[in-house]
Amino acid sequence: MQYHKHIFTPGPVRMSEQILRIGAEQTPYFRNDAFSAVLKQCERDLLALVNAPENSRVIFLTASGTAGMEAAVANLLGEKDRALVVDGGSFGHRFVELCKRHGVGHTAVDPCGTNLGDTAALNGIDATALLINAHETSVGVLYDLEAVGEACRQKGWLNIVDAISMFVTDPLDMQAHSIDALIISSHKGLALPPGLSMVVLTPRAIGHLLSSNTLYFDFRNYLDDGARGQTPYTPAVTIILQLQHRLAQIRSDGIAAEQAKAAAIATYFRDAILPLSLKPYTGFMPNAMTTLSPTDGRSAFDIVHALDTKYDIVVAPSGGALRDRIFRVAHMGAVTHADTDILIDALFDYYGVKR
Ligand SMILES: *Cc1c(COP(=O)(O)O)cnc(C)c1O
Repeated sequence: MQYHKHIFTPGPVRMSEQILRIGAEQTPYFRNDAFSAVLKQCERDLLALVNAPENSRVIFLTASGTAGMEAAVANLLGEKDRALVVDGGSFGHRFVELCKRHGVGHTAVDPCGTNLGDTAALNGIDATALLINAHETSVGVLYDLEAVGEACRQKGWLNIVDAISMFVTDPLDMQAHSIDALIISSHKGLALPPGLSMVVLTPRAIGHLLSSNTLYFDFRNYLDDGARGQTPYTPAVTIILQLQHRLAQIRSDGIAAEQAKAAAIATYFRDAILPLSLKPYTGFMPNAMTTLSPTDGRSAFDIVHALDTKYDIVVAPSGGALRDRIFRVAHMGAVTHADTDILIDALFDYYGVKR
């Protein structure tokens, strides 16, 4: 395994030394009061950081983010529902697939690279719920959560938001954005190892819970056990211990400081590469990531390949039709300006331009 590479991928992301140290410890036993206190603390901290309404709860799932998406669909949407899915890329499309698998009627809309600030695209559609990825990571478009939330509030739609790739680095407020169910996971902005995903449920979402036909993902069991700080099945104990540490750090520094740090790194990167033949793919970029298109006919995939093989730098390629058109650079996690300079210097060297 190549541990020495510099990673700028939208998951996994660089972790801090303290988080790595917790990961090096033995896994403690968890069916006891000490672990219950940790899980309860994580729940309280998460609810505060996303400004969840009173009596909201957090479901802790030992699985990657897609399981959080699937569990939300399976527990919150049924035969009587009709979901409006914002299908602006491969993560939006995953919600479409989930609706199909779970027999949920749905309408998919492609916002065509806009941030949905003008919610006209959502009008005139008959629905009971909205499924959206706050940051469509496949193309790096950040949607206007405030406008979308307002549309949901007016129409009475259950607003189900996958905020996996913008939580921590970009502003997120469940009350201000009228979010009913929020999906986040460990290995993006939280900068922890992959394997833990969380679904925050407001009292309104809890009121919508259906009798789920899955055992492992039945939210009602998680709510019951969670009341005493436990999960029905073995949780990702070590990642939860890392989460407790990370949330304490975010709360003490203030989440605004995390967002300002990501914004500063993103701006530093975007400004530094202006002399190169690259342009931003969208005008609606999050702090979390920059998506770039070559403007000189080069293949984006060739750039990704060269960065990896010549400079030990891993940025994210794209698949399908976008393979040659875009590549993505994440600014999440424990990255510094100095780390970012390594990538900037490599890009200048690759283009043969003096920095
Ligand atoms: C990373 C990500 C996910 C989760 O993907 P996994 O591979 O299951 O971790 C879901 N939604 C978005 C928008 C993401 O960026």
